[in-house]
Amino acid sequence: MTEPRATLRLTAQDAPQAARLLAQGGLVAFPTETVYGLGANGLDPAAVDGIFAAKGRPQDNPLILHVPGPDHLARYCHPIPAAAYDLARRFWPGPLTIILPRRPLVPDAVTAGLDTVGMRCPDHPVALAILELCQLPVAAPSANTSGRPSPTTAQAVWEDMAGKIDAVVDGGPCAVGVESTILDLTVSPPRLLRPGGVTLEALREVLGPVEVDEAVVRLMSTDEKPRAPGMKYRHYAPKAPVTVVRGDPADTARYIARHLAPGVGVICFENYVNLFPRCPLRSLGPAGDLPEQARRLFEALRWFDSQDVTAIYAQSPADGGLGLAVTNRLNKAAGFHIIDL
Ligand code: AMP
Ligand code: MG
Repeated sequence: MTEPRATLRLTAQDAPQAARLLAQGGLVAFPTETVYGLGANGLDPAAVDGIFAAKGRPQDNPLILHVPGPDHLARYCHPIPAAAYDLARRFWPGPLTIILPRRPLVPDAVTAGLDTVGMRCPDHPVALAILELCQLPVAAPSANTSGRPSPTTAQAVWEDMAGKIDAVVDGGPCAVGVESTILDLTVSPPRLLRPGGVTLEALREVLGPVEVDEAVVRLMSTDEKPRAPGMKYRHYAPKAPVTVVRGDPADTARYIARHLAPGVGVICFENYVNLFPRCPLRSLGPAGDLPEQARRLFEALRWFDSQDVTAIYAQSPADGGLGLAVTNRLNKAAGFHIIDL
C-alpha cells in the first residue's frame, strides 16, 4: 500500500502549479474536452507507475500521451505516415487519439511493452496550458478507479482519487463526455479501436476506408487477444447489472415500463421520464440529442452506485455518428447484455 497523499484542489489559474507538479514526477488530474485525465510525466517510468497504482489499472493496458500540438509528434513517434498529419490538421486539438510507432525514449510503462503509442492533443484550454508549460508528453488515462465510469466532473475525480494523487484541477464539466476516438494508423486500412467524439464517418471523409475493430461492437472472450489491450476489461460498469434495450424509443420505453419492479433503476430519454414516476432514474436528455447523451452517460452510470438498485434498464441511443461511441460505452457497461425489440 502507498501512503495517503494530501490532494490539492486547483483551478484553471493554477496551470503553472499543475505543470510543476507533473515535471517533479507528481500525479495530477486535469480536465479535457472528453473526460478528466490522470496525468504523469510520460517520460518518467516511476511517475507512470503511479498512475497504475492510483487507478488499480492492469499493467497490460497502455496509456495515451498528450501533447500540445502536431509538431510534438516526431519527438515520440517514428516513422509518421502523412495520414497522421492530415488527421491532426483536421481534428486536433480534439477527441482523436492516433496510434503510431513509438520511438525508443517512450518507456514500456506507457505502452505496456507495445512498439506503438497512442498520441492525442486535447481541446481544452486548461489541458493545453499545462502541456505548453511543462513541455512534456503527459501520459493520462481517464481519472477514475479502473473499471468505474470515467469522470466528467472534478467532483467525480475527487470521489475516486482523493488521497491517492497530488492534485485535481477543476475545469468544469467536460464538453464531449466520452473518451477520445482511438484510430490505429499502423495497420492498413486504418482501424477504429474505440469510437469517440470524432466520428467514424468523419474519419472516412479524410482517410477513405477505415475498419471497425470487432471489440467495438461485441464482447471479447477472456482468451481472445484484442488489438487495444484495454478492450478486454470490464468497463464503465455501475455495481448493479445493466440491461440495454434497443429499438424504437417509444417501444423500448414501454418495454422497460412493463419490466419495472422494486429495486429497478432506469436510464431513459427525457421524453419518457413520466413513464417511471417512482423509479431511481437518470435522463440522458432528448432522444434525438446525441451530444447531450454523451455528456450525461457516465454521470448517470455513476449515480446509480449511490442508490439502492439491484438492476438497471437503459434505453439505447441510436448508433450512427456520435451514437457509436455512446452505445459502445453503454453496451460495455452492460457487458453487452442487450435486448433487441
Ligand atoms: P484510457 O486512457 O483509460 O481511456 O485508456 C486508453 C486506451 O487506449 C487503452 O485502454 C487502450 O485500449 C488504448 N491504447 C493506448 N495505447 C495503445 C496502443 N499503443 N495500441 C492500442 N491501443 C492503445
Ligand atoms: Mg479509462
